[in-house]
Amino acid sequence: MKAYIMDKSRILRIADVGEPAKHADNILVKIRAASICGTDMRTFLKGSMKIDAPRVLGHEFAGDIIHVGEELKDYGFDIGDRVTAAPAIGCGECCYCKEGYTNMCENLETIGFQYDGVFASVVEIPAKAVKNGNLLHLPDSISYDDATLIEPAACAWNGQTYLQIHGGDVVLIYGSGMIGCIHAELAYRKGASQVIIVEPVEKRGKIAMEKVPGIIWINPFTQNTVEEVRKLTAGRGADVVITATSVPSVHEEAQKAAAKRGRISLFGGLPGDGKGYLDSNLIHYKELQIFGVHATTPRYMKEIMKMMEDGKLDAQKYIEKTVALEDVEKGFCSIRDDNTMKVVIHP
Ligand SMILES: [Zn+2]
Ligand SMILES: [Zn+2]
Repeated sequence: MKAYIMDKSRILRIADVGEPAKHADNILVKIRAASICGTDMRTFLKGSMKIDAPRVLGHEFAGDIIHVGEELKDYGFDIGDRVTAAPAIGCGECCYCKEGYTNMCENLETIGFQYDGVFASVVEIPAKAVKNGNLLHLPDSISYDDATLIEPAACAWNGQTYLQIHGGDVVLIYGSGMIGCIHAELAYRKGASQVIIVEPVEKRGKIAMEKVPGIIWINPFTQNTVEEVRKLTAGRGADVVITATSVPSVHEEAQKAAAKRGRISLFGGLPGDGKGYLDSNLIHYKELQIFGVHATTPRYMKEIMKMMEDGKLDAQKYIEKTVALEDVEKGFCSIRDDNTMKVVIHP
């Protein structure tokens, strides 16, 4: 089968690879739709040392089961079932896994990093993932394309669990990509009175205002973000700040833009070692709360799925381009060059 891989020399390319074999301890899924995530984009632009090469890339997907191994017959999956999966697979044994925080597993293995990914026509779901609940049935009302957004939205949802957003909160979000917009929608759902998005690319800022009606857009190239936020909050600052970007200076600015007792989510990981952006005294005197977040869990994916099923989260509007697997690099280029929000791949 054709797949988009990182080869032994860590070069990304389309290659012919063997289709995963049917085993007693695996499930195979025919991919109907996969999508390009910010993490994939970073790998495309800068490479990634977190991937065990050679490896098929990609981790956001939806498809149909074409094989259920004998050992996995009792887990509720059949040939033909529509599914998606939480790509971060825990061991099921460590203290984090036992509490349901499989994304924090001591021996975390992720589809597209340690297991072959979904930029291919078939993906193998290992027994461990099935046994730990990572494989999820897809409701009929959610299309394959829309389902590829469940995982990224569930990452945002995981990040927001720490932020306790409630009625009247002003929420400041850095970055207006699909993740920034989903954060905005989820914040409104939790009762935020105002969402402000900081976005240096004018086209993206304008698109975000169309996708999420009601948000205020700040352009940091022409406006002073901290001053603007103070103006909008009677001098107080934002109750909640979310950094949905990988720009390091944003971590510093987030602490200044936050109100006293503000909650900050460092959502986007930084390139390099990520050191040197926190101001200890500012955190101390303002009683700031700063939270990390990494990936997501099956539980949060189910919660997002429910929101989509109930029509409370519209994934479709973020999908702006669909490409064939052979053209996956055109998808990456379109995100880089044309600010396309979400690209879906049809293998
Ligand atoms: Zn992702
Ligand atoms: Zn574990």
